[in-house]
Amino acid sequence: MLDKPTHHSDDAKIVDDPSSADATDHSIRHDWSSEEIQSILESPLTDLIYRAQTLHRAYHDDNSVQLASLMSIKTGGCPENCSYCPQSAHFSRETGLKKEKLSEVDEVMRQAKQAKAAGASRFCMGAAWREVRDGQEFDDVLDMVRGIRSLGMEACTTLGMLTREQAQRLADAGLTAYNHNLDTSPEFYSEIITTRTYQDRLDTLANAREAGLTLCSGGIIGMGESNTDRARMLQVLANLDPHPESVPINALVPVKGTPLENQAPIDPLEMVRMIATARIAMPKARVRLSAGRRNFSRETQILCFLAGANSIFYGDKLLTTSNNEANEDLALIEEMGLKVFDPVKGDSAGV
Ligand code: SF4
Repeated sequence: MLDKPTHHSDDAKIVDDPSSADATDHSIRHDWSSEEIQSILESPLTDLIYRAQTLHRAYHDDNSVQLASLMSIKTGGCPENCSYCPQSAHFSRETGLKKEKLSEVDEVMRQAKQAKAAGASRFCMGAAWREVRDGQEFDDVLDMVRGIRSLGMEACTTLGMLTREQAQRLADAGLTAYNHNLDTSPEFYSEIITTRTYQDRLDTLANAREAGLTLCSGGIIGMGESNTDRARMLQVLANLDPHPESVPINALVPVKGTPLENQAPIDPLEMVRMIATARIAMPKARVRLSAGRRNFSRETQILCFLAGANSIFYGDKLLTTSNNEANEDLALIEEMGLKVFDPVKGDSAGV
C-alpha cells in the first residue's frame, strides 16, 4: 500500500499522479536495460524524486536512517592502482600516505564501542589489501567480526578479493555484509583501475553471496564518467539477483597526489539523481549516501534523503578522508525528524 503524500504548505496542491504510471510500479526487477536506467536518471528532477520517494515508502520505514561507522583497520600500501585512492602504493610518493600495520583487535573493539555509543548500528572495517590471505591477519579480522557482533552491531568488511572459502569463514564468524564496490561501468572501468578486472569484482561478490553474506556494493561518481556509465553501473548492480542489500553511492573526493586530484567536483544534484535512480532500480536496498557528503549543503543532503537515501556513513573520518561532524549529522537527523535504524529491534529508535 502506498502512503498518501502529506502536504504542509497551504498552497500545495494534491496531484493524483504527477509523474506517470511508472511511479506506482513496485516490482522488483532484474532485467533492466541501461537505456531504461539512463532515461530514469535523466528524467525531470521532480518526477524522478517523486517516483523514488513513492517506491521508498512502499518498501521502507520512510523516516528510518542507518548510521554506519567506517574504520580503516589497515591503511596504505595497497598494490591496486585505483586512480581515486590515496591508499594505493602506486601513488604513495605523491600522496605521502604511509603503509600501516593491521590494527590490534582491542583497538578495533574500542572504536566499535565508541561508534555504538554515538548511535552507529553498523561497523564497517576496511583493509587496503588486494585480496584476503589466509593467516594470522585474517584470523585477527575474524576475531574483530566476532567481537563487533557480540556488541549487537552489524559487521561489514571490505578486504579486497575473496575466495569462496574465505567468504564462508567470514560468514561463520557472523559477518553481516561484505563490501566490494563496482566503482563504475564495465566500459569506463579500465580508465580507473588496471590491476584487476571487472569480472574479478563480480566473482568476489558471487563468492560472498554464495557464503550467505549480504552484499554492499555501489560506486563513485565524478571520476570523468558519462551518464551512460552511471546508468550501466546501476544496471549491473540492479541485474544481480538478489540485489545488493546495501548500495553506497559516493562522490569523488579528489585527493592530492592521486591521478584524479584535479577532477572537478560534481554538481550535487547529480548525486540526488544517482540516489533516486538507485532507489528506483533496487527498491529494497539500503541506499547509502557515502563519500563526498561533507561537500554537500544541508539542503542537498535533505534532497538525497527525499530521493531515497536511508543510510549514511557516520563519524568524523571515512578511511583516510574527512567526513561530516557526527554532531552535525545528529542535528540534521533530528531536524528532519528521521529515526535511527536499530538492527537489533529491527525498527527505528528516536535520536
Ligand atoms: S583496492 Fe581499495 S585500498 Fe586498494 S587502491 Fe583500490 S580502493 Fe584503494
